[in-house]
Amino acid sequence: MGKVVLFICGSDSHGTPIVVNAEAQGMAPKTLATKYHQHFDEVFKGMGVNFDFFGDTDDQACHNRTQEVVKELMDGGYVYPKEIELAYCPKCERYLPDRYVEGECPYCGKTARGDECDMGCGRHLEPGEIKNAICKVCGSKAEYRKQIHYFFKLSEFKGFLLKYLETLGGTASARNYAMEWVRAELKDWCITRNMAWGIKFPGHSDLVVYVWVDAPIGYIAFTEEWCARNGQDWKDYWKDGARIIHFIGGDIVYHHCIFWPAMLKGAGYTLPSAVVASGMLKIDDKKFSKSRGNVIWVKDDYLDKGLHPDLLRYYLASYTAHNKEVNFAWKIFADKVNTELVGAFGNFLNRALTFSVKNFEGEVPDGVIDAEVMARISQTMAEVISGLEEYEFKKATDSVMTLADYGNIYFQNHEPWKLIKNDKASAGTVLRSCLQIAKALVIFMEPVMPAKMEAAWKQLGLVGSACEMPFQEALAPLAAGQKLGVPEILFSRMEEPFVKELDRIFKERIEQSESKEKGKTAKKKGEISFEDFQSLDLCIGEIKKAGPIKGSNKLLKLEVDIGGETRQVVAGIAEAYSPEDLVGTQVVVLANLKPAKLFGIESQAMLLAADASGKAVLLRPRDQVETGTKVR
Ligand SMILES: [Zn+2]
Ligand SMILES: [Zn+2]
Repeated sequence: MGKVVLFICGSDSHGTPIVVNAEAQGMAPKTLATKYHQHFDEVFKGMGVNFDFFGDTDDQACHNRTQEVVKELMDGGYVYPKEIELAYCPKCERYLPDRYVEGECPYCGKTARGDECDMGCGRHLEPGEIKNAICKVCGSKAEYRKQIHYFFKLSEFKGFLLKYLETLGGTASARNYAMEWVRAELKDWCITRNMAWGIKFPGHSDLVVYVWVDAPIGYIAFTEEWCARNGQDWKDYWKDGARIIHFIGGDIVYHHCIFWPAMLKGAGYTLPSAVVASGMLKIDDKKFSKSRGNVIWVKDDYLDKGLHPDLLRYYLASYTAHNKEVNFAWKIFADKVNTELVGAFGNFLNRALTFSVKNFEGEVPDGVIDAEVMARISQTMAEVISGLEEYEFKKATDSVMTLADYGNIYFQNHEPWKLIKNDKASAGTVLRSCLQIAKALVIFMEPVMPAKMEAAWKQLGLVGSACEMPFQEALAPLAAGQKLGVPEILFSRMEEPFVKELDRIFKERIEQSESKEKGKTAKKKGEISFEDFQSLDLCIGEIKKAGPIKGSNKLLKLEVDIGGETRQVVAGIAEAYSPEDLVGTQVVVLANLKPAKLFGIESQAMLLAADASGKAVLLRPRDQVETGTKVR
């Protein structure tokens, strides 16, 4: 659209979730935060999401900018100290900020985290507000102790926010949600925490700022980092009225539409002109949840399976309105790929190109481009631009797909395969019009499917790069006689067995999470009789062969001798043992388990292993015994 854009993003590395998880994994918070940061960076790149700068809120630039902003707020008289009562764990001997504590929401009574009532009313909770607090680390009942903390005078910004929100662009749902909160209540906001991990509160070595202070300040800091590397002045963006547009998840509207503009206003920075909040993500029509296994990992489940990033990008852009819930399911994914990308879009590009290459010596044919075609392209361009300006990516992609459908009908109705036999000139006119539609489709779809459209651009024999073309270029007629490239299939069908396999991996993860959950809750199992135990055919086996299973990084295929008989066993031990270390090992085998197929391979027995926090440790006899010896 011809606009100069700086595209900034970053990892939010501070806050209690990082510290709590790092502690649980015996790591330093910095190590865990860096691990996540690198992973995000890698996944974004793998998906063709090319930020100008992808920063980390633990970057020095963010420490500096955050302290600067806090000082500016203090100088402006917007920060004051106040004694409050905080949850404190007598056993862990520490204060319990944010997610270190769980208890009862003082507003709705539901179970809530220290800083947010995420299962109930959705309110942001201030330190000390939570009732009947329990320490998340050791489970002890927390006490309340008095301590001095620092508050931001958010209540003073009520009038400003009401006016500001009226003019805020982006999704109406975000604006209205924030407006409701501001109208109802606007309490001063505690901006310090008792923690070591984070950005130090100026003048207090024992306090850091609350994560929601430095997380958005990251946007400024990352701009500064990019500007420093590119010889530009960050103030042009944050002090001088650039249009700032935030793209956020629907669950952080409160922070971006209330805390953030008030902070910017107080400290004297450019205010965002739009906040675009997406709807939440569902997987298979159920709430996305890592702990329940209801998740599809972009790297493991998608990119590593050889799926092209552009297909998922298309899915997300075209599924629904930006502020509505997005549901992902493999079945829908395959349908969209097969009908929309293969059947409509790819089919048209391929037909137009193949027919021209074959019948017009690999060149754009002569003839006048149909005026109706040019009008359709023009109309599509207007719709795409208005879709993008409204942040409605579905509207934009839908209108591109409508143009592809029009192209298919145009080709079909004009029957160039008949014309070519006795009226080559007319066939040329039809094809030149079709190729013009193809060029327009590539330019309009490029933001959604950059790699695929770059390939299509080359197939059309066009010079330069599709990503550099302004939308206007779609109306520039293809030159007659221009050499066309080699037509190739852009999109391939998602075949049923592959889709089923992807779905099976997903379902298996849910089952595993469920059984893990059951294992946790059912600590005490019911008694069984000695006869019940005797019905298990347990014996000592020896692993004779071991090898990997294609497509699985968890399972190994084994051949186990159980005393004159060999059983094929599929075991989930690939992450714990390498195949060559297993051959010759004696193991405990459950020989009369009903056979089951895993990855298409029959498993005819089971090995016993200890489940050491998810890692398998094989059980084996202390001393060497004869293979086939019974276990009693
Ligand atoms: Zn609540
Ligand atoms: Zn504790």
